[in-house]
Amino acid sequence: MDFLPIFMNLKGRSCLVVGGGEVASRKASLLLDAGADLTVVAPELANTLQAWANSGRVKHREAGFEASDLEDVVLVIAATDDEAVNRQVSELAQARALPVNVVDNPSLCTFVMPSIIDRSPVQIAVSTGGVSPVLARLLRARLESLIPSAYGRLASMVEGFRDAVKGRFDDVNSRRGFWEGVLQGRVAELVFAGKDDAARRELEASIERGEVEMPGEVYLVGGGPGDPDLLTFRALRLMQQADVVVHDRLVSKEVLDLCRRDAERIYVGKERDNHSVPQDQINQLLVDLAKQGKRICRLKGGDPFVFGRGGEEIDTLTANGVSFQVVPAITAALGASSYAGIPLTHRDYSQSVVFVTGHLKDGSMNLNWKGLAQPQQTIVFYMGLKGLPVICEKLIENGLSPDLPIALVQQATTPRQRVYTGTLSTMPQIIEGTTIKPPTLIIVGDVVRLHERLNWFTSDEEAGEKQ
Ligand code: SAH
Repeated sequence: MDFLPIFMNLKGRSCLVVGGGEVASRKASLLLDAGADLTVVAPELANTLQAWANSGRVKHREAGFEASDLEDVVLVIAATDDEAVNRQVSELAQARALPVNVVDNPSLCTFVMPSIIDRSPVQIAVSTGGVSPVLARLLRARLESLIPSAYGRLASMVEGFRDAVKGRFDDVNSRRGFWEGVLQGRVAELVFAGKDDAARRELEASIERGEVEMPGEVYLVGGGPGDPDLLTFRALRLMQQADVVVHDRLVSKEVLDLCRRDAERIYVGKERDNHSVPQDQINQLLVDLAKQGKRICRLKGGDPFVFGRGGEEIDTLTANGVSFQVVPAITAALGASSYAGIPLTHRDYSQSVVFVTGHLKDGSMNLNWKGLAQPQQTIVFYMGLKGLPVICEKLIENGLSPDLPIALVQQATTPRQRVYTGTLSTMPQIIEGTTIKPPTLIIVGDVVRLHERLNWFTSDEEAGEKQ
């Protein structure tokens, strides 16, 4: 171990930053966050530091560094662009046994500054011992995405209960077990969901009972349109926590692969016109699993509340007293729009956008065609592939131009994405002789014209075609 990680209490203590530029201001900002009484020595200050000096947040000595600046100081950082000055600060500080950091010069440092993940009071510091600050920053970014931002609130909340828990359990092991249950169970989930009062009540009740109840819970999670990078942090966290994953056909393999490895997986997929597991059985399955005390991730394609029947599933949960949370996601319309370079609204072309289902029932679609066939409006059809000829015909019949552009986006955001474009009059023929791989989304409106110019994403499938 080249460096010992420690966390220093700097509240109200005199610290010194030598240098007045942007780098100095970043270091100064950290020291201020830690409550230091900060003096900056520099002939000139850059904007940020100047503003802090004006408002009295930092003291400014407008001069070059002198040895006397180190008097009564407990920590010093040199951040000037003058190597000789930095060296002098380091030598003089070391002669006084003062901790000193020289930015970007490990050999002059007695301590290095880590990359910090701040979930106060929880602090996580990442250091490569000055070997590669960029690597430390990259690691930090990964950790930031894994650790819920509410961890700080959770830590602050449990602090107030430490004595009560100590009083309730007298041996260390049962205390540890209790806290593990609290920090991984319902109390933590309530805090993450922003329900701090409910979390506090739950914790009080658990202390009273002397144990943490681990009731089953359902996470209704949107898995997005396919590209796993489009998941939310919360979706990923719950996918990795659940004991059982109940998923359907639309969830991509790449997304499914991110679920906890040893979680049980149950497929309840639906093929078009072939409902392999009826909806009411899925609803009941979720209730049954939750009653067994399982944490279930009900993973759905896109967003659970956009043509996802998520509402019905949680209705049954509510009726059965099963607790749940809903995690929103990028719906197919938004994924397809971005990855096909077709903005859904645009000042010149479209002032509104509607999402409708193009599902055919008995060969027709019972939609408000007049309302859909409006000028300057983008229409997105989900589940519309089979009904595409009907869609085109009805829109023309209700007043839209046969030349209005239309796009069919196959497997949006995945390596198999393909975008077919045409007009209301030509599209039915274009797709007739083509093998289209579902799922597909249909976008109708003048915005489709932008695809040619704004298309930035070439999928593997399209790249293969061009070779
Ligand atoms: N809840 C989902 C929609 C479920 S309905 C969401 O918010 O996206 C199923 C329809 O969604 C499919 O028939 C198709 O029209 C559309 N869809 C879902 N994922 C898609 C994708 N990757 N590319 C194109 N369309 C998609």
